Amino acid sequence: MKNKSANLDELHRFVFENTPVRGNLVNLTQTLQLALKKQKLPSGLRKSLGELMAASALLSATLKMNGALVLQIQSKGALKLLVVECTSNKDTAIKIRATAKWEGKILDEENLFDLVEHAQFMITLDPKGGGQAYQGIVPLEGNSISTVLENYMLRSEQIDTKIWLSCDGNSAAGLLIQKLPETMNQEHVTHDLDTWNRVSHLASTITDDELLNLPAETILTRLFHEEDVRLYEASTTQFFCSCTHKSVANMLRMLGNEELQSIIEERGNIEVHCDFCNALYTFDKIDAAQLMAHETTVIASPNIH
Ligand SMILES: [Zn+2]
Repeated sequence: MKNKSANLDELHRFVFENTPVRGNLVNLTQTLQLALKKQKLPSGLRKSLGELMAASALLSATLKMNGALVLQIQSKGALKLLVVECTSNKDTAIKIRATAKWEGKILDEENLFDLVEHAQFMITLDPKGGGQAYQGIVPLEGNSISTVLENYMLRSEQIDTKIWLSCDGNSAAGLLIQKLPETMNQEHVTHDLDTWNRVSHLASTITDDELLNLPAETILTRLFHEEDVRLYEASTTQFFCSCTHKSVANMLRMLGNEELQSIIEERGNIEVHCDFCNALYTFDKIDAAQLMAHETTVIASPNIH
């Protein structure tokens, strides 16, 4: 059933012509697999992370900005953190990285909602090259990631949004439809509401199998064959971690000289692992001294495990 060109993961934008209803479809296979290769997650958490990755690409595509969108779930339960960062730039592929932190033993059948306590959902927008950063925090309510996001969009952005997410551990996929704020013209409002209700109903018939395995064109034809849908050219998505030697050095510098010296005395050198991509950065005594002298040159090479 797979009919994806050259293993590229793609995000498609579409609109329902002459209405304020628009949508996105995304399918992540390589992106998900590369993210999962860097960490050993119980299978329930793999699915939740995949769904959150698909959601980040869908939401990022609805924002008219270049920059990073970070979706985070923080909790005091066995699951401590689930985080996905999606960076978009009009000219290049959408870049996604993701990781999870948990404590103790997690069973494969346990999903996100079995593992959280006093959980919060955070959404952060960090526009690159200027613009105001934004952070919204809401309690993690509902029993699916899509419900949490739909409620968030309605409450914080006043935008009607419906989201369907699916992940089988190998691929993750999602469908989003959104009704942009209404115009003042009453005639249009009724028509737009009719379109929204009809299109939401049609979209809700999507199955996990269709979402995960069919090309975007086929999905849209199956769901909306009587609607006037315009599909835009796809964007590609890929796994990419933005960690660098410089960013790790900057982070270490903030710990202060005393702290760095005491780590070196205790362990011989300083090792920092990137949770997203598993890269290992090592700084010895000389590196650390240079670092505190505000050296900005790269002083060691990453050691990828
Ligand atoms: Zn990294």
